[in-house]
Amino acid sequence: MPNIIIDGTSIDFKQGQTIIEAARDHGIEIPHFCWHPKLSVSGNCRICLVEVEKMPKLVIACSTLASDGMAVHTKSEKVIAAQNAVMEFLLINHPLDCPICDEAGECKLQDYAYKYGVGESRFVEEKVHKDKRVSLGPRVMFDGERCISCSRCIRFCEEIAKDPELTFVQRGDKVTIVTYPGEEMDNPYSMNTIDICPVGALTSKDFRFKARVWDMSSTNSICVGCSKGCNTEIWVRNNEILRLTPRHNEKVNSYWMCDHGRLNTFKNINADDRINSPQLRKDGQLVEISWDEAVNEAALKLKSFNKEQIAVIGSPFATCEDNFITNKFARTVLGTGNLDFIHHLDPSFADDILRTEDITPNSLGAELVGVQPSKSGMDIHGILSAIKEKKIKALYLIEDDVVEAYPEFENAIAGLDLLIIHSTNHNKSTALADIIFPAATYAEKNGTFVNVSGMVQRIHPAVSVVEQDRALDGMSVSRLDKFGTKYDRWASGKKINSLPTWKILISVSKAIGSKLKFNIAEEVFAEMANSIDAFKGLDYDILGESGSKIRSEIPNKVKVS
Ligand code: SF4
Ligand code: SF4
Repeated sequence: MPNIIIDGTSIDFKQGQTIIEAARDHGIEIPHFCWHPKLSVSGNCRICLVEVEKMPKLVIACSTLASDGMAVHTKSEKVIAAQNAVMEFLLINHPLDCPICDEAGECKLQDYAYKYGVGESRFVEEKVHKDKRVSLGPRVMFDGERCISCSRCIRFCEEIAKDPELTFVQRGDKVTIVTYPGEEMDNPYSMNTIDICPVGALTSKDFRFKARVWDMSSTNSICVGCSKGCNTEIWVRNNEILRLTPRHNEKVNSYWMCDHGRLNTFKNINADDRINSPQLRKDGQLVEISWDEAVNEAALKLKSFNKEQIAVIGSPFATCEDNFITNKFARTVLGTGNLDFIHHLDPSFADDILRTEDITPNSLGAELVGVQPSKSGMDIHGILSAIKEKKIKALYLIEDDVVEAYPEFENAIAGLDLLIIHSTNHNKSTALADIIFPAATYAEKNGTFVNVSGMVQRIHPAVSVVEQDRALDGMSVSRLDKFGTKYDRWASGKKINSLPTWKILISVSKAIGSKLKFNIAEEVFAEMANSIDAFKGLDYDILGESGSKIRSEIPNKVKVS
């Protein structure tokens, strides 16, 4: 491999790489505003100027190809003087309104001003003023004074979202960003421009002015908006989720996520319709009861049915761990093979960038862990017909809304003798339930999802739930967050009293008399890895933060014995 020498250190590089790319591959950071690894090179910000021996002038590292034997200096006197000059130039008209800027704390301009600037300005004239609140589209606001004209947002729309919506107008210090006449920046990926804008010129209408970045914690997670499983960070203040941002994973979503996933997959967590305690129908009304009462009532009622009269519906919204225990619960505790889950497909949602037609995060995982009918059991359509014919009298529904998915069966489901539901929020099905268990959301538990390509990926608790009114069979729920701080739901005034679905099922199993015993999600995963080929050899450590491929071909339909 050819070599390049950067600041005296020899590193190898791939033919065709630029200096900035070669350096980055070896952990050497050359400052940059306009360059982004996934966008074309525009070379306009000039902060990446470096000195190359035998070249008469400084060159920009983002567009100069590395060549064998090239000697590059990134910290020489000439380079530092150039960096100082570029920073001074960029800050001439910048409003320096960091104290009220959403980007403060995660702003490249702010960071570089400390690192590469001289710390003072010689500019005493009036700064150029521009519009500070321009709506570029339904989700993004533009501040013209903060823009440093790097063109990342323009290139993103053209090259990644494939929807050219933005352009520069005017020249010199009057230059600014606008949408094309009659256009809005409303492409389904528009909010990625906020992430890649190196300054606070583009802000999220949903998030702006809600929190300072240093007041929030962030937790790695996975988007639940479709089966792509984009890697995300969940940003939390006072135990309330305030925003999601994409997390880089080249095998899944690169640096991006769609606006739907970013905005619509966390607001149910603190919503008013959140189910906050177990409920039992008494005299036609759902009333709150204790966990013990709910578990015992569910067990007692389930025991009164023949196994042929019971069906279980798992969930592509729930984790592999939840579905694995659902499978065990159905087959070994209730003795039924009437087991399936509902596929939620929306072809109009899919595109050839990230979004898939499966609008759930874990269909493949539910299938792989065996949530499907046994040979003699009924699938989802058989179950619904049998409910209509009153052959199925008891339905155990996990984290889904069967009435929303199949409105024509609403009357039949209302006629069940027993409907038990695990749900995070109230919906059309919970309105008909006899017993409701409050399920923890994806942001409140550990577990895994398998995406459309077979990547097994971890989720972690980002917000905490409160202690149960009484620990279930020795299983207590921590109210400590990951920093060991005690939290209630201060922001919403709610105390969310929920458990992961798999834990609720273990409690009900024990009340029925079964020996199912797992204490933490990791143990459930270990049992999956022991017993299911696709997960063989995997554990939470191996999955890490970027996931691993399942250890088998992606099945059309997994066989269940
Ligand atoms: S708005 Fe941000 S991303 Fe777009 S050109 Fe200005 S500084 Fe660059
Ligand atoms: S593409 Fe799918 S997984 Fe990715 S952010 Fe959008 S909805 Fe979420």
